[in-house]
Amino acid sequence: RRNEAEAARLLTAETRDGHRVQVAANMTSADELPMIAHSGAEEIGLLRTEFLYMGRDTAPDEEEQYEIYRRIVRGLEGRPLTIRTADIGGDKPVPYMKRPKEMNPNLGWRGLRYSLDEPALFETQLAAILRASADGPVRIMFPMVSTLSETRAARERVNKVMERLRRAGKPFDEQLQIGIMIEVPAAVELAPRLASEVDFFSIGTNDLTQYVMAADRANPKLQKLSDPFHPAVLRMIARTIEAAHEANIRVGMCGAMAGNPQAIPILVGLGLDEFSMPARDIAEFKLVTRRLSHSTCRLLATAVIRLDSSKAVHERVMSFLAQLE
Ligand code: PEP
Ligand code: MG
Repeated sequence: RRNEAEAARLLTAETRDGHRVQVAANMTSADELPMIAHSGAEEIGLLRTEFLYMGRDTAPDEEEQYEIYRRIVRGLEGRPLTIRTADIGGDKPVPYMKRPKEMNPNLGWRGLRYSLDEPALFETQLAAILRASADGPVRIMFPMVSTLSETRAARERVNKVMERLRRAGKPFDEQLQIGIMIEVPAAVELAPRLASEVDFFSIGTNDLTQYVMAADRANPKLQKLSDPFHPAVLRMIARTIEAAHEANIRVGMCGAMAGNPQAIPILVGLGLDEFSMPARDIAEFKLVTRRLSHSTCRLLATAVIRLDSSKAVHERVMSFLAQLE
């Protein structure tokens, strides 16, 4: 089994009937680079940049961030890197940023909301990301988007920083892609409109599940409710994928669900283009995908989103996977 997984790293994630999906890694700290580089990941679908701001007394400046991003870009040797701007607040506090205490941090001043209100912090990070894009394929992704105006404001901020870099003669990729996380129910509802404003979507099932089910992702008492396999969440995922494809943009997933073997046939069936997961899950992901057929996954996906409970979905998927044997 271990040898099989070892060999699987080098394979593509393709179903028996020839439907291929992209396999990407999530990265949460720069130390993970060597492991990711050898994991069989075709790209990094999510670089969580909060690590840059944590465990210190001040925010990193542009040069420091630029050096780190550039090192990762170079280490990937041409494979794309999706850098998510800081998702500070909520479950990711940064003590030295003097932020007001919030009654509901997960419903609070976090992610893109915070970045848009802190222009110096945001533009410093955007400048560092843009400059790193001169060394290899880089994409920018914004977390916690709820509205069109936030999306447009974020893009304007990118344009502003681009103009500043041009004037300073600092190179960057003029074609750099900009995407958003879909992890708030409002963004799912608005997905058809949002899709015409960005180059890609990435579904964040950790937060999306939390907000759809109104169940704190860190509360152990709510674990049963915090299940992305609940049809309420699956339907949201299905509609997001549909909206993206309607607008001809790519849609991935970087929440924990993407690396769950039980989720693979459902998400392949729903047409998800990219799966981004912890590097250690990639080999298994490829092995499972290569045993599937896209046409039966589509039937499964259509069936499970109509079921009544997450329990019923889990049971259906488990029997589906058992029949592959
Ligand atoms: C998510 O919410 O699913 C996600 C990928 O982002 P994070 O876990 O960093 O909030
Ligand atoms: Mg999230």
